[in-house]
Amino acid sequence: MAARALPPLREMIATLVAEPSPSSADPRFDQGNRRVIEHLAGYCDALGMRVELLPSAHRDDKVNLLATFGEGDDGLVLAGHSDTVPWDASGWRHDPFRVSEDDGKLYGLGTSDMKSFFAVALTALARLDVTRLRAPLVLLATYDEESTMGGARALVAAGRPKARHAVIGEPTNLVPIRLHKGAIMETVALVGQTGHSSDPSRGRSALEGMHAVMSDLMLFREALASAHRNDAFAVPVPTMSFGALHGGDSPNRICGECELRFDLRALPGMDVPALRAELRARVTRIAEARGLEVRFPALHPGTPPFETAASAEIVRAACELTGHEAGAVAFGTEGPYLTELGAETVICGPGDIARAHQPDESIDLASLPPAVELIERLARRFCLPA
Ligand SMILES: [Zn+2]
Repeated sequence: MAARALPPLREMIATLVAEPSPSSADPRFDQGNRRVIEHLAGYCDALGMRVELLPSAHRDDKVNLLATFGEGDDGLVLAGHSDTVPWDASGWRHDPFRVSEDDGKLYGLGTSDMKSFFAVALTALARLDVTRLRAPLVLLATYDEESTMGGARALVAAGRPKARHAVIGEPTNLVPIRLHKGAIMETVALVGQTGHSSDPSRGRSALEGMHAVMSDLMLFREALASAHRNDAFAVPVPTMSFGALHGGDSPNRICGECELRFDLRALPGMDVPALRAELRARVTRIAEARGLEVRFPALHPGTPPFETAASAEIVRAACELTGHEAGAVAFGTEGPYLTELGAETVICGPGDIARAHQPDESIDLASLPPAVELIERLARRFCLPA
């Protein structure tokens, strides 16, 4: 069957990158992804897919896209996020929004992470004879993966898409990934009572309270590390890292307020909401014993850990077609949400995470044809007759 009317791969990448779509928990850097989704919808429409735009309940400029060939819930989802991280133009030698070629690479914000994947997936879909589908094929593009996972959460709430298998095309250099950790970013704010330092009994020090909290969290960290281990990870135990501490203002005043920010990374199998509840209970006990008020202003709802069995059909197929064993990565993805929707999910796409989230992001041109090939072969295996 002839390829349907789709622009060339590189032109699609350039078009998608040209539309800024950064998402951020910081409203100053947060933008919508609607323009990217509209381009994708146009491509999917040209291929003859059934296209649905699912806007966020809160903001009309944040949109998930579901485009489908065929019917039913036993098919394959090709998934990715259409947002990027915010950028700092001063660090870029290339224009982040006008894709340029240099030294065998395409430069631009989102080239690796992960707008190129959509162009790759669409190119692969255009090569299939979809009149012969035996299972549905779905292209999914989400919003807010880089900030709150709000797009993926909304899909879970809506119970869509339903599919048996999923590939997320995050940049893994086409190595299949079936495991990653989950993360909680937590803030602990303690409020005590200030007073003159000459009489400590006149106040309640938030700083000393935080010292006790940190000591306890370090014990908690040791307990977690001795109870949980998974050698598939380069860092095989759960971690906790204190990232920021702010409190007090003067050596001769009792510290009235202190705030700690830290992250905790959990292994697959660990229950993140239960972990967060235990963490908060420990901190609350310490604060109350010292007459301190405690708050937990959440930075981020946290992302669950991700694990798909090595024996899952999609993992085995991705390993066979790429010649790699399935591994683990240190970054989070929308994998746990697709898993929750019932799809066995593998993470595998072109591009390199080491080049993402930094100035002069790029993707190797040579990585694109094998990626198209891989997606085409996965789609044939799971959705077309043998
Ligand atoms: Zn990404």
